[in-house]
Amino acid sequence: MTQIATVRGPIDAARLGNTLVHEHLFVMNTEYTENYRPDFEEAAMEHTAVEQLTALKAAGIDSIMDLTVLGLGRHIPRIIKVAEQVEINILASTGIYSYDSVPFPFMHVGPGRLVDRPDPLADHFIRDITEGIAGTSVKAACLKCAIDKPGLTEGVERIMRAIARAHLVTGAPISVHTDVGSRNGLIAQRVLAEEGVDLRDVIVGHSGDTQDLDHLMEIADQGSILGMDRFGMHTTMTHDQRVDIVVRLIERGYVDRIGLSHDNFCYADHFPAGEPHNGVFKGLRYTYISEEVLPSLRERGITEGQIHQMLVENPRRHFEDSYRRAAGRDIGSATA
Ligand SMILES: [Zn+2]
Repeated sequence: MTQIATVRGPIDAARLGNTLVHEHLFVMNTEYTENYRPDFEEAAMEHTAVEQLTALKAAGIDSIMDLTVLGLGRHIPRIIKVAEQVEINILASTGIYSYDSVPFPFMHVGPGRLVDRPDPLADHFIRDITEGIAGTSVKAACLKCAIDKPGLTEGVERIMRAIARAHLVTGAPISVHTDVGSRNGLIAQRVLAEEGVDLRDVIVGHSGDTQDLDHLMEIADQGSILGMDRFGMHTTMTHDQRVDIVVRLIERGYVDRIGLSHDNFCYADHFPAGEPHNGVFKGLRYTYISEEVLPSLRERGITEGQIHQMLVENPRRHFEDSYRRAAGRDIGSATA
């Protein structure tokens, strides 16, 4: 019986049910939104989130992984308010979302830096998982970092290695934002493996943004779960292309290495007011997989058992096995 932290408190992994592996609620640069975005009205946004997540639960989804971490405007009190009003389980994460440098509160602190002391990053993540995020009682269930077109910059590598260390201490599984066009999921896998991470405990995010089956199999063959996690975003790939690559992976025997999601959000200041749901990502919504993708997969011959594997069994295993493996390790001190 593995207990998994949700925003409302721990639940048994067996109760996660149908789980979307990569979603957000509110995404923002807090400084920008507070100064320049009067359209972000706290109570209205909370209401919107409650409405949309209630609809998602009604559409058959039981849990979402909210991969909003530092760098994306994470604010746990706001998530707590929403979680109290919905049935769906919200799993919070910790980590840092950066394509380049370490955020300033950490940049000058660490071995050989201006404030010369042990690197605070891993301990920061560990506290969020074991004690609670930012002084709240909400514990993070998983870890998140990113690598994008700039590749393995010094900052990205420092964050990634700290994420690995926090994972080894806590057992919290890892999700990595990647740019599949740059094939840098493989770089993330190499760095995490160098730190001792079992790559089965990693979701390589945004893997669905390609039609390159060989590349995806290369990642999956190392044990990681492929995040086919942008269903409803039709800028890089069409609906049919996103469905097709999942079907082809299943045909090759990879149904146990696939996680499904949208990478959706109620609000993101990355786009002008009213966007992107009215324009760029028209049609993107939390219920897109339930309403559009599952019917398409069934039409292509994917069975209920295979859908259950992707929506229930794979996310459950991602958490359960990761925490179980950590419990079996002799870790020693919290940081390297
Ligand atoms: Zn995301």
